[in-house]
Amino acid sequence: MTKEEIGNRGDDMMIETTNPKPKIENPDEFNVHYLQLYYGKLFPYIEFHKWLSYGHDGKHPGCDESYFNRREFSFTLQNDVYTRYRSFKNASAMENDIKEKCPYKIDIGAVYSVDPSKRKAYSESGSNVFVPVERELVFDIDITDYDDVRYCCSGADVCSNCWPLMTVAIKVIDTSLREDFGFKHILWVFSGRRGVHCWVCDAKARRLTNEQRSAVAEYFRVYKGNENNARKVALMGFSLHPFLARSYVDYLKDFFEGELQATQSIFSSKEKYEKILDMISDEGIQSELREKWENSARSSLSEEAISRTRWEQLKNTLQSKKQKAPALRMCVEEIVFTFTYPRIDLEVSKQMNHLLKAPFCVHPKTGRVCVPIDPNNCDEFDPLAVPTLSQLIEEINSGGDRMEEDDDDLDRTLLGKSIKFFRSSFLEPLLKSCKEEIESSYKAKIEKSKDSLSW
Ligand SMILES: [Zn+2]
Repeated sequence: MTKEEIGNRGDDMMIETTNPKPKIENPDEFNVHYLQLYYGKLFPYIEFHKWLSYGHDGKHPGCDESYFNRREFSFTLQNDVYTRYRSFKNASAMENDIKEKCPYKIDIGAVYSVDPSKRKAYSESGSNVFVPVERELVFDIDITDYDDVRYCCSGADVCSNCWPLMTVAIKVIDTSLREDFGFKHILWVFSGRRGVHCWVCDAKARRLTNEQRSAVAEYFRVYKGNENNARKVALMGFSLHPFLARSYVDYLKDFFEGELQATQSIFSSKEKYEKILDMISDEGIQSELREKWENSARSSLSEEAISRTRWEQLKNTLQSKKQKAPALRMCVEEIVFTFTYPRIDLEVSKQMNHLLKAPFCVHPKTGRVCVPIDPNNCDEFDPLAVPTLSQLIEEINSGGDRMEEDDDDLDRTLLGKSIKFFRSSFLEPLLKSCKEEIESSYKAKIEKSKDSLSW
């Protein structure tokens, strides 16, 4: 790790250049001039500040005016400089700094006990008070973790055939966060290229300790495999946990048998079906099915039809042998989970001080904006239709960029729909509940002080 100082901010702006350089693959889509225009005219500073203030930006006497200022931001700048522990007093300070520095990437960190840019002064004073105190519960899902179950793309590439793996992940996790954990204020965001981020913003989520975050993350863990391990999912016992059973019935099974078979034909070739046969812990069944499939290799059916037939054969065979071999009881479910269950980067969820890319950033490699995704309509989300920087600049140049307060006007611009969704579906209900909480804790404080006076 190399460290250097920039500007006049001294040690507070220590730079860590371990981050990979954001390489620009397509300068027609992404360049610093476009980015300046984007930050100058389109970035939704007001909504962004309102979100991260969580109601602490009003006139209410219960507001904590230091709240926004204690949030860590990190910028990745054009010259590969990576700066952590930036903080802003208010919306205009944030706006000015973003416009001036024009970061290629903005990350959001935790809310600390004190202003992160002054953390060194506190550590010198000997009192070890610089600690993270609040942080959204976040989830990070990346399609590169699905390379062993998608045959259309690999690595950072993504297409309309494999993106539905992300869609089903959103459905499973969103449903569980709402129904099992009772969270309400959940923001899903396209990561700009190959995945999705989830921000759980309820007060009780933001105040989870690292231990509690780990417990939530572990709740979602069923995927234990790696490339050398055929049986990636181990579903214990005679029946599924209610969360897994619901995910299976409501989403995973239909997705596996429908869309996944249609787009990936996961049994259509020997190379593909051998991976699945490896998941069956009974060699007799393995060779019975293999024999059947090798002999039917020269079929005139489509790949998809062959794949579907083989899946039915596998299910029927397992069904008929289930009584004799209890280890096969969950085999069908395990195969479905292996192919479709969300593969979350759980380490990101476990630590309060983990950074995550901010919504409405622009991905330097694709030029696409990290727009919110509506979990109720996530089937309609097309990552390849997300507006790019060059499209937005074209819109600005043709005079169509006005970001009016009137929501009807927003509908007419490329980014407007995303901002409107962010405001009305996420921000407004969130701020309503934040204000109620500030009001009720303020009242409780007043009551308490009355009680102590009346002694
Ligand atoms: Zn693909």
